[in-house]
Amino acid sequence: MRILVVEDEEKIAKFIKRGLKEEDYSVDVAIDGEEGHFLVSTNEYDLIVLDIMLPKMDGLSLCRKIRLEGNNTPILILSAKDTVKDKVTGLDAGADDYLQKPFAFEEFLARVRVLLRKKESKGSSQLKVRDLVLDLLTHKVTRAGKELNLTVKEYALLEYLMRHVDTIVTRTMISEHVWDINFDTFTNVIDVYINYLRNKVDMHSDYKMIQTVRGKGYILRK
Ligand code: CA
Repeated sequence: MRILVVEDEEKIAKFIKRGLKEEDYSVDVAIDGEEGHFLVSTNEYDLIVLDIMLPKMDGLSLCRKIRLEGNNTPILILSAKDTVKDKVTGLDAGADDYLQKPFAFEEFLARVRVLLRKKESKGSSQLKVRDLVLDLLTHKVTRAGKELNLTVKEYALLEYLMRHVDTIVTRTMISEHVWDINFDTFTNVIDVYINYLRNKVDMHSDYKMIQTVRGKGYILRK
């Protein structure tokens, strides 16, 4: 779990970083809003801890900017501001939670755990690549919001491709992981299923996600 802390007060930043590291989280610190934005754009975080009063770009503006860019990483706002209005403004800016300074570290950690848990349960029930969404709980698959009717094998094949997005998967890999047996000699079965899947997934979209890599296998491209 990787956490970004955007906090300009060195003492507080160090204190939070040390505390989170003791809990085995990896932590990056940004000391102003612009650096925070740069790190958010160049790394993948599981949680962002955000102070409001920051140099260069304040926390609320940064929060709005992150959301406008389509980034849904949980955000926990930390601030000395404690009026109801400020909390509402923070949550309206797209934050998931708000903690008032000074705070007890135990409470901070508890909130961090809640946000990470929420993210995990959300993350584990759906696979998403562009406008293609596969729900692992209901087995419902949609492309651009339209439901696709897949057979059990097609679903398993698509799930495998989506778990390896932008990676070439060979016919051998597919036969071993999707069919659970090694049937190298019957690989044309896989080609047939790939074609079924293509017809359902890509037929009505301009962007063709399932692509053949000649002599190697297949790739589901983002
Ligand atoms: Ca500050």
